[in-house]
Amino acid sequence: MKLADLHTHTHYSDGTDSPQRVIELAKAAGLSAVAITDHDILNGHSEAAAAAQAAGLELIPGLEMSASDAGREVHMLGFFIEASHAGFQQQLAEQRTRRIARLHEMIARLQALGLTITPEEVFSQAKHQGAVGRPHVAQALLARGYVSTTKEAFDRYIGNGGPAYIAGSPLPPAIAIRAILEAGGIPVLAHPIYLKDDALIEQLVPHGLVGLEVYHSGHPPEAVQRYEQLAERLGLLKTGGSDYHGANKEGAPIGSTSVPYALVEALKQWKREHRTSTCA
Ligand code: AMP
Ligand code: ZN
Ligand code: FE
Ligand code: FE
Repeated sequence: MKLADLHTHTHYSDGTDSPQRVIELAKAAGLSAVAITDHDILNGHSEAAAAAQAAGLELIPGLEMSASDAGREVHMLGFFIEASHAGFQQQLAEQRTRRIARLHEMIARLQALGLTITPEEVFSQAKHQGAVGRPHVAQALLARGYVSTTKEAFDRYIGNGGPAYIAGSPLPPAIAIRAILEAGGIPVLAHPIYLKDDALIEQLVPHGLVGLEVYHSGHPPEAVQRYEQLAERLGLLKTGGSDYHGANKEGAPIGSTSVPYALVEALKQWKREHRTSTCA
């Protein structure tokens, strides 16, 4: 059966691998298609497309846009985004600028807690001038010996709701959905389990939510079953993926969560039927 992994990160956000390496690993895992879904940046796509073509694998251009609802982190995947859409690129540039300011705020909070890491130590963790994020803070805390694993950094300080946590973006999820639709993309709510509130999923449907990431490396079997039923009831497309981050996240190699290629076909079918792009 043809399989696809629809959630991976590269070194343009908080993964550690190049787009070429992600394609190589997807090929080695026996996948037919892979989506690159970096946080708030589309930079990996052109490199990945060339590598995918050479490897005989299909690249699905995507992203994972940060948003928040009442201070709670919400991640919106966008598939088949059109990178040429200038307005959307501008919005992403603003998100990335905001990410830098947010990391400075988080560093200040950590310093107030007695963890004297510097901005330089954090920003030097991001080697490709892309979208900086919490895993870079976690790596800096680890390098200083303040924590013994990155998981500990999240559990004690920077995880959702932690003492040094600040939401990734003040953008309401409904606005992220609209931005993705306007850029020709398909908005899919990522890893709903981390929301701890299924009601929000239903609330986003009238705002244009198209899909739900039912299958995810962080979803136990009972959650998958619940989200399968929810997606059916709400008429949402289903997607899934590993959320691969290279060395920045353990236990989720490429292809460890995958979906039948039929779900990719369903995304493409939706895209054909909805001319969402407002691009000239
Ligand atoms: P950011 O986009 O800066 O909010 O960072 C989000 C990223 O942090 C996610 O994609 C994960 O890679 C990582 N992350 C979030 N929560 C945790 C956690 N509890 N443990 C480990 N990594 C996490
Ligand atoms: Zn990430
Ligand atoms: Fe995410
Ligand atoms: Fe992700």
